[in-house]
Amino acid sequence: MDKHLRMRRNAVFSPFDMREGFVLVFDMDQTITGNYFSMEAKEKLELNPKIVDILKFAMQDKDTGRVSAIFLLTNNTDTEFIQHMEEELEKAVGMGKIFDYKMDANHPARTHMPEYPMIQNGKQKSLADVEFMLLRCNKTIRNLVHRVLFFDDQEHVLSQQLRNAGRPEHFVHVNPPFYKPSEKRRKSGTRKIRAVS
Ligand SMILES: [Mg+2]
Repeated sequence: MDKHLRMRRNAVFSPFDMREGFVLVFDMDQTITGNYFSMEAKEKLELNPKIVDILKFAMQDKDTGRVSAIFLLTNNTDTEFIQHMEEELEKAVGMGKIFDYKMDANHPARTHMPEYPMIQNGKQKSLADVEFMLLRCNKTIRNLVHRVLFFDDQEHVLSQQLRNAGRPEHFVHVNPPFYKPSEKRRKSGTRKIRAVS
């Protein structure tokens, strides 16, 4: 594990007023997976290696109660792809079922925010969505805004809500791509062959 990830982990998982446990909320596209829109995505899913590492810690912390729940909150609507991603992610993490609950863009309880019609097709992610998922899992929503860690490549109302609550560091802004082009080529074992004139 690299030094920065360990430092971030220690900062993010510091046990202050967290008796209820952290709630980890993950976006899917460009956060967990990198290549939804490419044709090869279904055969060779590109998983974010840092998210895989974080989930390995989070799954251990779920056993100790330091993490209360792990959720997927995505604006994707392709349920088949979401299921495929979940299976591949579980294989990569290797610690059983990861998500306590998943909400896609078509979930009937998703926050409707007409005041944000131009952002993400009006499908905002908000604290209310996280609250809904926790209640569905029979878990406490006490102190919620201080317990959410939100991983996304884009800003949402939820990231703003965390900031307003004085927890800007609880929004983890993911910046794809996950691999440098050279690493990606090495990883997939393909090589560019230049035409010789
Ligand atoms: Mg995204």
